[in-house]
Amino acid sequence: MATPLSASALLAALKAEGCQVVEYRDWRTHNRNHKGAWGPVHGVVIHHTVSSGEDSSVALCYDGHADLPGPLCHTVGGKSGKLYMVGHGRANHAGSGDGDVLQAVIDERALPADNEANTDGNARFYGIEIVNLGNGKDTYPAVQYDAAVRWAAAICRAHGWGAASVIGHKEWQPGKIDPAGPVEGRGDFSMDRFRADVGERLTHPASWSAGSSSTKPPAQEEDPMAGYSKADIGDAVIHRDNIPAPKSAPDKAKNTKWTLSSYVQSIYNTVVGLPGDVSALRKDVAALRADVAALKKES
Ligand SMILES: [Zn+2]
Repeated sequence: MATPLSASALLAALKAEGCQVVEYRDWRTHNRNHKGAWGPVHGVVIHHTVSSGEDSSVALCYDGHADLPGPLCHTVGGKSGKLYMVGHGRANHAGSGDGDVLQAVIDERALPADNEANTDGNARFYGIEIVNLGNGKDTYPAVQYDAAVRWAAAICRAHGWGAASVIGHKEWQPGKIDPAGPVEGRGDFSMDRFRADVGERLTHPASWSAGSSSTKPPAQEEDPMAGYSKADIGDAVIHRDNIPAPKSAPDKAKNTKWTLSSYVQSIYNTVVGLPGDVSALRKDVAALRADVAALKKES
């Protein structure tokens, strides 16, 4: 049982987890608290929006529609990797789901099949809507998926929960299929995989920057990349944790994306070696001068 985080505490947790957060309108006080309970909270629910377009999807999740007033979640995950805060408090995202699933989340054990709709999920779960058409063909970019992992991990970390407190809407409410569709570098959206990615984050501090943005185990992304020259990384596009590997990196085929911290480390390693290289060159030049002077004397 947990008291919901305050808006400020939630924001701080997300930022500490490395999320790019956008505060949309009056999200801090936008909720459905006048219609029912908010809290105690037990976990987070992952959804896809069945929409395209970042701005219009954010507006839809804030406003809702005639049959279902907004907010339709707490956070919208755009394809850009940005997280838009659209509500805080009770939100219309989880509907009625299976009480046995809720109990399993509370106990942080394997989920039973969701075959009942007997429990108010909107009081119990934080929700993220990830922008995706949900047609099984629209791909979640790695940066978008990684942002959702960070969002879930930040909330779990703040509450002291494990990754078993993360569920998909399809695991909560009979008849739901979300989240679904191909994830860049990860195959079809799997909640087990998503929980594993959240769990991996939770074994590191919140500042951990080896994102979940590629197919390799995250530990490999943290390898200190020593010995690459500045020319190698000069034309890299610096975009947080999704930087193309340097041309000369020996494992570039396997390790296609680097984190910003790996790049900084690589630059540092190169720079600290420069004074030694320069003084060795100075000695060589001095020796050559001496040789030339000796030759001139002889001739
Ligand atoms: Zn949903």
